[in-house]
Amino acid sequence: MSAAPAADCLFCRIVRKELSAKVLFETERVLAFDDIKPQAPVHVLVIPKDHIASLNEAPEGADALLGEILFLAREAARSKGIAETGYRIVLNTARDSGQEVFHVHFHVLGGRRMTWPPG
Ligand code: 5GP
Ligand code: ZN
Repeated sequence: MSAAPAADCLFCRIVRKELSAKVLFETERVLAFDDIKPQAPVHVLVIPKDHIASLNEAPEGADALLGEILFLAREAARSKGIAETGYRIVLNTARDSGQEVFHVHFHVLGGRRMTWPPG
């Protein structure tokens, strides 16, 4: 369904355990790990194990996978103890969003009061 893993993709390398990360949990298709440069007391990244560069490149048929990632982002918030106090899920896509890593990832941010609008 998705493109082949990209040899030089940072998050594919984390999936393959070539690079270490503080893994919160993993399932057959999804990996959740702490962001290396947290922007809040809780900052988890939830990614598909298969390489998808961004939401713009998500193929037909990825709807179930994307829904699974969203629910697992909720699970990450629960396991970090911020589900009730609140959290923000961010999915940066392409240039103007500031997307830096081109392997689709949901940020789960919480543990502090968020501001709106985002920067
Ligand atoms: P983006 O700006 O693409 O939405 O977010 C990329 C995120 O990946 C950033 O929050 C950044 O701190 C995080 N990140 C970049 N490199 C690494 C890494 O090697 N390990 C981990 N755990 N997070 C990373
Ligand atoms: Zn990748």
